[in-house]
Amino acid sequence: MCKDPDCIFCKIADHEIPSTVVYEDDQVIAFDDLSPQAPVHTLVVPKAHYQDVTADIPGETLVAITKAIREVAAAKGLDDGFRVISNKGEHAGQTVMHLHFHVLGGKPLGEGLI
Ligand code: AMP
Ligand code: ZN
Repeated sequence: MCKDPDCIFCKIADHEIPSTVVYEDDQVIAFDDLSPQAPVHTLVVPKAHYQDVTADIPGETLVAITKAIREVAAAKGLDDGFRVISNKGEHAGQTVMHLHFHVLGGKPLGEGLI
């Protein structure tokens, strides 16, 4: 599995840095964001290092990501809906260069994207 030794999310995936784990399997880890932007703000992160959503991501990993999003929604009781965001690059404000999906919910988020 591809890892970046300087990457914080690789370290969280390997449990070298603690996090509040919501869901985990062999491909994916999901943990609560340190600076939540909504009542529920969980990050779904593949354990292998990919820079962003435009990387060449194996199909089985994409399937695992969608399953993890579903598991997070169930664990957090997001029955009324939620938003999934993946930032790519400077204009999107990506700060951690390891692919991740923000799962946001727990209140009405409004119709606007941001
Ligand atoms: P982005 O701006 O899309 O790259 O999002 C990175 C997210 O990672 C931000 O929402 C940060 O609050 C979050 N974050 C950074 N370090 C940690 C950490 N150690 N544990 C949990 N969330 C983190
Ligand atoms: Zn990484």
